Amino acid sequence: DSFLSMNLSRPLLKSLTSLGFSKPTPIQAATIPVALLGKDVVGNAVTGSGKTAAFMIPMLERLLYRDKGKKAAATRCLVLLPTRELAVQCYEVGNKLASHTDVQLCLLVGGLSLKTQEVALRARPDIVLATPGRLIDHIRNSPGFTLDAIDILVLDEADRMLSDGFHEELTEIINSCPKSRQTMLFSATMTDSVDELIKMSLDKPVRLFV
Ligand code: AMP
Repeated sequence: DSFLSMNLSRPLLKSLTSLGFSKPTPIQAATIPVALLGKDVVGNAVTGSGKTAAFMIPMLERLLYRDKGKKAAATRCLVLLPTRELAVQCYEVGNKLASHTDVQLCLLVGGLSLKTQEVALRARPDIVLATPGRLIDHIRNSPGFTLDAIDILVLDEADRMLSDGFHEELTEIINSCPKSRQTMLFSATMTDSVDELIKMSLDKPVRLFV
């Protein structure tokens, strides 16, 4: 398997080269082609497997080349992560992958100023990366910020978000996203509560176990 055989666009291939990613990891090889088709995906993957790029690459491709006219009108991709550190890491990888594009990413996590993040949201970033609690704060308090235009939702480290007590927040956030969206869920373990979350938030997902 290679990134070249995945029909990725030049800006993405350039970023992969600068990152030194010469070939896809197993989770990337499994996820990217399926996610590019717009299907819902469940991935059994841990940190270190390369799962961040596994969902960021198809997300960027779909943002860049599908419904281009919608661009800048609203936030279209949402990535939920359990902790600030994981969100920051994902933001860094995402920015590197997007460096040859005009896609804008925005980080919403505790510890950053609510006001500053509110200002960043007014520019309608294409992709928001957030922890569930902080995202809810912004849905309630940032004028004009909604999840009404979300096309792609990623639930990363779903088992951890549930064990960290974000169940109610997740339910509220998922119910605020349009039903006709693509959802990707990643989890190191597949517990009953993860299964329940999959049933609630994904539509006929392709299950990828690598
Ligand atoms: P992640 O599991 O997404 O946190 O990624 C773990 C580490 O693997 C990160 O440091 C990435 O930069 C690196 N990585 C991800 N994909 C690749 C790849 N295809 N080739 C080489 N390194 C990668």
